[in-house]
Amino acid sequence: MRTLPPGSTIGILGGGQLGRMLSMAAAQLGYRCHIYAPDERSVAAEVAAEFSCHQDDDIPALTKFAKACDAITFEFENVPVGPLHEIEECASLYPPIAALDIAQNRVAEKKFARDHGGTTAPFAEVYDRADLDQAIADIGTPAILKTIRMGYDGKGQSRIRPGDELCGHWDAVAHQPCVAEAFITFSHEFSVILVRGQDGEIRFWDTPHNIHEDGILAHSLIPAPQEIADQQDEARALAAKMAEAMAYVGVLTCEFFATKNGPVFNEMAPRVHNSGHWTIEGAVTSQFENHIRAICGLPLGDTGLAARKVEMHNLIGAEADDWEALLGECSNHLHLYGKGESRPGRKMGHVTKLHF
Ligand code: AMP
Repeated sequence: MRTLPPGSTIGILGGGQLGRMLSMAAAQLGYRCHIYAPDERSVAAEVAAEFSCHQDDDIPALTKFAKACDAITFEFENVPVGPLHEIEECASLYPPIAALDIAQNRVAEKKFARDHGGTTAPFAEVYDRADLDQAIADIGTPAILKTIRMGYDGKGQSRIRPGDELCGHWDAVAHQPCVAEAFITFSHEFSVILVRGQDGEIRFWDTPHNIHEDGILAHSLIPAPQEIADQQDEARALAAKMAEAMAYVGVLTCEFFATKNGPVFNEMAPRVHNSGHWTIEGAVTSQFENHIRAICGLPLGDTGLAARKVEMHNLIGAEADDWEALLGECSNHLHLYGKGESRPGRKMGHVTKLHF
């Protein structure tokens, strides 16, 4: 275990709101953050000590950045893996690259979960039109076609209803390699959010009930209803097994469907996650702080609840324009990500409410 003293520099790959909230948590503990991102307008860079603006696969720029950091982490899972191997020697890199390799590929991810005893939706790999016909013949409809790589927030997905012409769905995913997944009948969605330290200690936060609208997380509510509470132990055991198998360090999020046959694993994010934003005020230690603690080799903070009930509501698109009204409710904790222009489907901020 390598403890990084406060004052050290933490490099963060990615410049979005997760990097912004990680940087603020790191600053509280006395660390400096250095953001590396391709966009000039990176909301994480606005709250960090340093910013390198280069493409993700610019190896000379990445190497220079890595040499200027004591530890490196990432805030989105689609960081290209190849260039990361080039900078591994320069600074400690957590979570491990192996976790990115798995999370970037929906087939690898589902197989990994199954190999560790988890249940996933029945699925078939689709590389061409004929595969799609066969997949739908095998798994039936309704189904969801998802690109194997680069999908998030419902992007790169097409929902197939009974009787649909498949051509339109194949076009909708731009003929990319896909998985066709059976549509799961679930009562609720939830996520297991854990942090694993360099010494292997694992702590879980309370399990949020996640409500999605148009494939995007809209609300996370704690405590979760009984149907989720009943499936929590099994889901946590799977997430912990997967974390151990990857020698994981940092925050790991696994998303599940609660079904009448138990938890069905949907996907994992090897990073802090939107369904954990409530932990900033709603838990004794936030996901952001514990991620920083883990990658710096510090003792992990208490993940216990700070209130009886916690609600997190995402502000998507124009919802964030109501900031004045939201601030007018004095119990709201308002977080705006500084993204300027609100566009439909864009995560602009969130609001957390605690109930004591
Ligand atoms: P994903 O990008 O896989 O997280 O999917 C986004 C959202 O679409 C999920 O949170 C669910 O609400 C829904 N969804 C994804 N896959 C399935 C499935 N196999 N069955 C039912 N709903 C799904």
